[in-house]
Amino acid sequence: MAEPIDINGIIKLRHQLHSLAELSGQEKQTADKIKQELKQLPFVEIVENIGGYGVAGIINSGKPGKTYMFRAELDALPVEENLNTDYVSNNPQMSHKCGHDGHMAILLGLGRLLSANRKLWKGKVILMFQPAEETGTGARLVIEDDKFNILKPDFVFALHNLPGFPLHSIITRSGLFTSSSQGLIIKLQGRTSHAGHPEQGNSPLIAMINILTFLNSVKDKVIGCDRSALVTIIHLQLGERSFGTNPGEGKIMITLRAHHQEDLNLLKTAITDKVNCIAKAYNLEVKLDWVEYFPEVCNHKLWVDRIIQTAVQLDLKIINRKQPFAWTEDFAYFTRKIPGVMLGLGAGEDYIPLHDKNYDFPDSLIPTGIDLWWNLILNDNNQI
Ligand SMILES: [Zn+2]
Ligand SMILES: [Zn+2]
Repeated sequence: MAEPIDINGIIKLRHQLHSLAELSGQEKQTADKIKQELKQLPFVEIVENIGGYGVAGIINSGKPGKTYMFRAELDALPVEENLNTDYVSNNPQMSHKCGHDGHMAILLGLGRLLSANRKLWKGKVILMFQPAEETGTGARLVIEDDKFNILKPDFVFALHNLPGFPLHSIITRSGLFTSSSQGLIIKLQGRTSHAGHPEQGNSPLIAMINILTFLNSVKDKVIGCDRSALVTIIHLQLGERSFGTNPGEGKIMITLRAHHQEDLNLLKTAITDKVNCIAKAYNLEVKLDWVEYFPEVCNHKLWVDRIIQTAVQLDLKIINRKQPFAWTEDFAYFTRKIPGVMLGLGAGEDYIPLHDKNYDFPDSLIPTGIDLWWNLILNDNNQI
């Protein structure tokens, strides 16, 4: 039997991390707090400043075996929170509205459990606290950092709490788990003129209308109806708020999503060709900036099976997704190179959605997350 840990202490830690909320790439205090906690564990080696403020705690069982990496995220969101609790964010306009505070607490709890029960498991465990997940840049910076080379995980795992699913349920899928996505900024440059003399300028208005009409139907034309993809227009800008000026420049921002990388590529090519063609027809200069690329998370079947086996042992409800999720996750950068799994942990069917100002991580998920990872390690250790 495993020596239990004090779950209330871990919940308190979650509340402290909640108060420290910092934005992507600026998670210094949060990383300091994590390091301070990891230092209290025996047999832990700490690697800091990986890909920014990233921190890895390596716990060694002292016995040969595999190296398992579990990931949590350090960053919060630029949202002013609306909570009636005794642990609100210390920083105005910043708060943990994606539950990353809870994900970090789960890993710190796992660390304590592993340290207290070193005799019961084999191999090494890396607790990876990754920066800048919300902007999609952190995982890539971590994996490209030279310091990542010393970690050498054999397998990688992550969970994300998911409102809209039964509390404590395990949501998983073999193969594609999340979509890939790509942001695009289209800038059109014509010529401003007096509003009374539009004929002396060159407004991008009509070109923008043509581009928007095209974007609205491009998915069906290029991908067809049987495969899933989305083109979402997220922001438009034309000229300035000046009644005396005929606009000379316009901007369209869109997000593309697809379950398959080849579909994303098809959309990118079609949009690039058409936008260039329309801009040329209207004698406009055009610039396309592709930004915030997220690859798709691909789950490895063997590990999905092992997660299901573990969830059955723990009597957790298992939800096998028929379709991948339309959201994205930069954990994909890890699963591209290293086998593993990302899964959802149900936060309650009617729970407040992620990124909402009223959202707060449900503390009851902390022991569930710790138990899941702990038993997954034991189950894998026991495979011949
Ligand atoms: Zn988020
Ligand atoms: Zn998140």
